Amino acid sequence: MKIPKYIQLAGRKYKIRYSDNMANDRACNGYIHPDVCEIVLQKSIKGTPRDEQAMGITFCHELIHGIFLAAGEDELYSNESLVSKMAELLYQIINQLGVDK
Ligand SMILES: [Zn+2]
Repeated sequence: MKIPKYIQLAGRKYKIRYSDNMANDRACNGYIHPDVCEIVLQKSIKGTPRDEQAMGITFCHELIHGIFLAAGEDELYSNESLVSKMAELLYQIINQLGVDK
């Protein structure tokens, strides 16, 4: 899955940025920062690059958070279990459709 440099979500343009020390700082592989319109993804863990699938699923995970946020669904936005399941499915659909190729 090709991760873009920017993505439009409900009229807001989010920049996609990478970090290598997020797992230490935040105990996660990505986060969305709506105040500065940024999605940050962990690129490697302890020097080992994360694979394309892991990066794609994390990107989808942050997008789902962003979608719930844009919809004003604060409870769903914070529901990590639901967000994770939806991210896996969204990633699978995107790959099947080949929309990123
Ligand atoms: Zn999350």
